[in-house]
Amino acid sequence: MNPKIDRLIKQFARLPRLGSRAAGRIVLSLLQDKSGRAENLANALLDAAATIRPCPTCGVLTDATTTCEFCRDASRANGQLCLVRDLADVWTLEKSAIFHGRYHILGGLLSGVAGTTPDDLHIANLSDRIRDEHITEIIFALPNTVEGKTTQHYVMSIIGTTQDVKFSELASGVPLGGDLDYLDDGTLSLAFGGRREL
Ligand SMILES: [Zn+2]
Repeated sequence: MNPKIDRLIKQFARLPRLGSRAAGRIVLSLLQDKSGRAENLANALLDAAATIRPCPTCGVLTDATTTCEFCRDASRANGQLCLVRDLADVWTLEKSAIFHGRYHILGGLLSGVAGTTPDDLHIANLSDRIRDEHITEIIFALPNTVEGKTTQHYVMSIIGTTQDVKFSELASGVPLGGDLDYLDDGTLSLAFGGRREL
């Protein structure tokens, strides 16, 4: 195979949920396209890679130079802070339009197996956020797994004793081991609406 094409296929094959066969089909489709899709894709990637950064406050990816769209939106300052594992969970919740508070992306879950420790989580500014943004409820929207529960208990242990804030978690309906993005909007809405206080 041509080394340039081979290199492209290898890059695509590293992407989540793409194997080398799917990567090959994508590369073929891009290279045979006459409408400039390959150039458009390359330009969009370069632009995003150069400008998109995590919001220092919540962790959402943004091209804003200070804080992100969510953190600047005053209508979201309703006292609710939803803790999620990653940005895909924010997208899932936004798509279902059931939550209109602020988000906090942890960037991972505590895991002995994966070697993820509290130092790896984006939690250093959590206490400041609760105070500065007058947070009254922290909603855990984490996977219903050992790692999700361990992380939840850890966050509660570092926040609970120092600040007057209530904790809640999504109601049953989130399948064991399930990720948020596997839930349909109806199930997610029920789980969110029926969340239980901890
Ligand atoms: Zn933000």
